[in-house]
Amino acid sequence: MAEKLMKYSEAVKQFDPVLGLETHVELSTKTKLFCPAEVSFGGEPNSQLTPVSLGLPGSLPVVNKTAVDYAIKLGLALHCEIAEWSQFARKNYFYPDMPRDYQISQYDKPTNGNGYLDVELDDGTIFRVPIERAHIEDDAGKNTHVGGADGRIEGADHSLVDYNRAGVPLIEIVTKPIEGVGERAPEIAGAYMRAIRDIVRALNISHARMEQGNMRADVNVSLRRDPSDPFGTRSETKNVNTFRGIEKTVQYEIRRQAQILSEGGEILQETRHWDEASQTTAGGRVKSDADDYRYFPDPDLVMLHITKEHIEEIKAQMPEMPRERRNRLKAEWGLNDVQMRDILNADALDLIEATVAEGATAAGARKWWLGELSREANAKGVTLEELPITPADVAEIEKLIADGKLNDKLAKQTVAGVLAGEGTPSEVVEKRGLKVVSDDGLIDKAVDEAFAANPDVVEKLKSGNMKPMGVIIGAVMRATRGQADAKAVTKVVMSKIK
Ligand code: ADP
Ligand code: MG
Repeated sequence: MAEKLMKYSEAVKQFDPVLGLETHVELSTKTKLFCPAEVSFGGEPNSQLTPVSLGLPGSLPVVNKTAVDYAIKLGLALHCEIAEWSQFARKNYFYPDMPRDYQISQYDKPTNGNGYLDVELDDGTIFRVPIERAHIEDDAGKNTHVGGADGRIEGADHSLVDYNRAGVPLIEIVTKPIEGVGERAPEIAGAYMRAIRDIVRALNISHARMEQGNMRADVNVSLRRDPSDPFGTRSETKNVNTFRGIEKTVQYEIRRQAQILSEGGEILQETRHWDEASQTTAGGRVKSDADDYRYFPDPDLVMLHITKEHIEEIKAQMPEMPRERRNRLKAEWGLNDVQMRDILNADALDLIEATVAEGATAAGARKWWLGELSREANAKGVTLEELPITPADVAEIEKLIADGKLNDKLAKQTVAGVLAGEGTPSEVVEKRGLKVVSDDGLIDKAVDEAFAANPDVVEKLKSGNMKPMGVIIGAVMRATRGQADAKAVTKVVMSKIK
C-alpha cells in the first residue's frame, strides 16, 4: 500500500530538514585490514581467507599500515584532527556474515575527528558539511539468500555466505547533523556523496565504484518545525548505493515524515531500506539509542600511535584536491561557470584533461566529448569512458583538422569509424578515403560544374551579392562527397567571379 506523502514544496515550507550521512568507503589496499588475505572484487567465494578473516580461535589481528595511512589521507582531505592515539574497539553482535561475532571498529578514540567538507552545489554556491569523525573498521562477509524473491531472506530455502569481503578495510565517514539545508536537502546530500567519491578517487585510496559496493551510505533524515527547535526523531535508511538513490531517499523521507507530523503522528526511530523499484523507503527494524553493542577496546590490538612527523610525511604526498583541480583547469581552459558545470555533469573532466594532454586544444577536446561523443554515449546508454574511443584518438582527429587534412564533416565520419572499431583515426581516414581534397584541379572542375548548373547564382555573385555562395559550396561538397576544403573552394569561386 502506498504511503501518503506531502507535496515536497509544501513539506519544506512547513518543516526544517536535518540530515546525517554515514558513508562507508571500501579501501583499495592489496590486503585486508588485519591479515594478509587478498582484497579483490569478484573472486571465487571463500578463496581470499586466512584464519583471521574467519575469526578462528587463536588467530590474531595485525593492523595494515597502508590502511591507516589511507585513513590519515582521507582525514587530512576532510580537514579532520588526526588523533595522536587512536584505538580499535570490538562492536559485538551476531550475524552469520561476521564469523568473529564482533566487528573491529573504532569507538571513542577514532583516528579522524571533527572536520568539514565544502561541497559545491549546482549553482556554484558552497555548502559546508560538518564531519564528526572518519574511523577505520573492517567489513563483514556477504550473505546470499537462495530460493526467495529478489534474494530476500524471507521465503529463502537456504543461505550462502562468502567471507572474501570479511576483513576488508573500510572508513566510515560520519557527518554531524547537517543543518540549514532547507529545500536543497536532496541536492546537498547527493553533492556531498559525489564530493566524497571525487576525493577518495583523487587520493587513490578506493575504487569508489558505487555499483560494486565500494561506497554506500546510511541516510538519516529528521524534520522539525523551526530551525530553533531541538532535532526531531530521525529515520535511518541503510546502505543506499547510488547517488540518485541518496537524493531520492532524502526527498521521500522529507515527504513521508512531513505527512505524518502534519497529521499529529510520531516518527519512529527506525532503520529503513530504499527500494529502487518502487522509489520508496520501507520500514525495517525499530531502533533505539539504547542499541548496545558492548563496545570495549580490542585487547588483541595495541593503540595506534600517529606521530606529527608521520602526518607531515603524508601531507607532503597529498595530491591536488578535486575542487582545487577544477578551479585550476577552469582558469587554464578559460571557461565560465556554466561551461565547467556542463563538463562536470557529463563526467568528462578526466577525459578532456587527458585529451588536452595528448595535444588537443581545450576547446577542441570539449567540443567532441560534450557534443558528438556525449550524444553517442547517451544513445548507447553507456558512459563516455566506456565508448571505444580514447583521448589520444580525439586528439589525433583534432590534429588532422588543424593540419587541414579533415574538415568538420569528415572528422565526424572519422569519429564514427573509430567508434565502429575500424581502427585509429589515421587508419579510418585511410580505409574510408576521407582525406580533404585540396587538389585545385578537382575543385576547379567541380566549381565549373556548379556554375553551369546554377547560372542565376553566378549572376548574383558576379554582381557582388555573396549571399548565395553557400549554394555553390554545397554543390561542390556534394560532388566531392564532402571532401573538398571549404576554404579552397571559396578561393576558387572568388577567382572565377572577378
Ligand atoms: P547510529 O550509529 O545509531 O547510526 P550516529 O550517532 O552514528 O547513530 O548518527 C547517525 C548519523 O545521523 C550521524 O551522521 C548524525 O550526525 C546524524 N543524526 C543524529 N541525530 C540526527 C537527527 N535528529 N536528524 C538527522 N540526523 C541526525
Ligand atoms: Mg548508523
